[in-house]
Amino acid sequence: MRIGLAANRRHHQERGGALFRLLEASGRGLQELEARVAVVGRTHDAILQHAGAWPLPTLERYPYGREGGLMKLVAEVVGMPADRVLDAAIYLMDPVDPSSIFPEAIALKRQCVIHGKPFLSTVASARDWVEVERVHAGLVPDPGADPLHAFEGRCLALIAHDAMKARMLAYAGAHFDLLSRFQRRVATGTTGQLLNELAWSRGWPQDRLWVDRFNSGPLGGDAQIADLVLDGRCQRAIFFEDPHVARQHEADIQLLERAVTTATERAVCITAPAVAERWATAAIVRSRAASAR
Ligand code: PGA
Repeated sequence: MRIGLAANRRHHQERGGALFRLLEASGRGLQELEARVAVVGRTHDAILQHAGAWPLPTLERYPYGREGGLMKLVAEVVGMPADRVLDAAIYLMDPVDPSSIFPEAIALKRQCVIHGKPFLSTVASARDWVEVERVHAGLVPDPGADPLHAFEGRCLALIAHDAMKARMLAYAGAHFDLLSRFQRRVATGTTGQLLNELAWSRGWPQDRLWVDRFNSGPLGGDAQIADLVLDGRCQRAIFFEDPHVARQHEADIQLLERAVTTATERAVCITAPAVAERWATAAIVRSRAASAR
């Protein structure tokens, strides 16, 4: 497995930064997965400087951002010859760092979505994904990841662009019991309406909503959900984006994603159906293992 890794300056300039909290929590898991990690120059140098005795996966140094390190990661998400292919990208973003909106940063996310690969922009997203892959590899669940699986006290946001709504409905139908374990579900307007109709058809009480609906995306629903994330009232988003059309509310979509990155320790965002599917199956295996304990 190969993973790309970059972090904005704020997340790696001090030993207590988000990059190091991630390595502390998931360094061993990445080792267990035998991950090779392609790290953009400054992030790589910061790891060597600060990581001390933590368990680290195999690192490969890529050029500095200004020399194209992040751009090379984008090409490898798409896939290059000679096994230069990334399975996932971790990009710990600081939303007020201008480099977080450089074209290569936006392209990294976009190509991950297009190629169905994880784009992990928060500590919580990366930790969550490492645990998902550990479970799929048959490893014993890491108790450190238990809080990410305490769905009963959490709120889940579900959003799908028009071309992806059928996928979202199929996904929610396939994992209805798992998604129903969340204390609360929220959605943008049209997605929410479709999901409520699905839930009622599945026997959910007719007088109860399965998801609380906000405005439709183009009328500000993403911004309303972002506000919940910022207040710590929504901890996970499953967002099926359509990367192939111009989106009239692009700014709102970016706003939601940037809100998630401000809550780097708490908020998980899953941006592609293939990744959401892997999360759901791992979550089910993990809860069976917990109830057998
Ligand atoms: P919708 O919004 O669920 O209201 O369609 C989603 C979006 O287009 O952002």
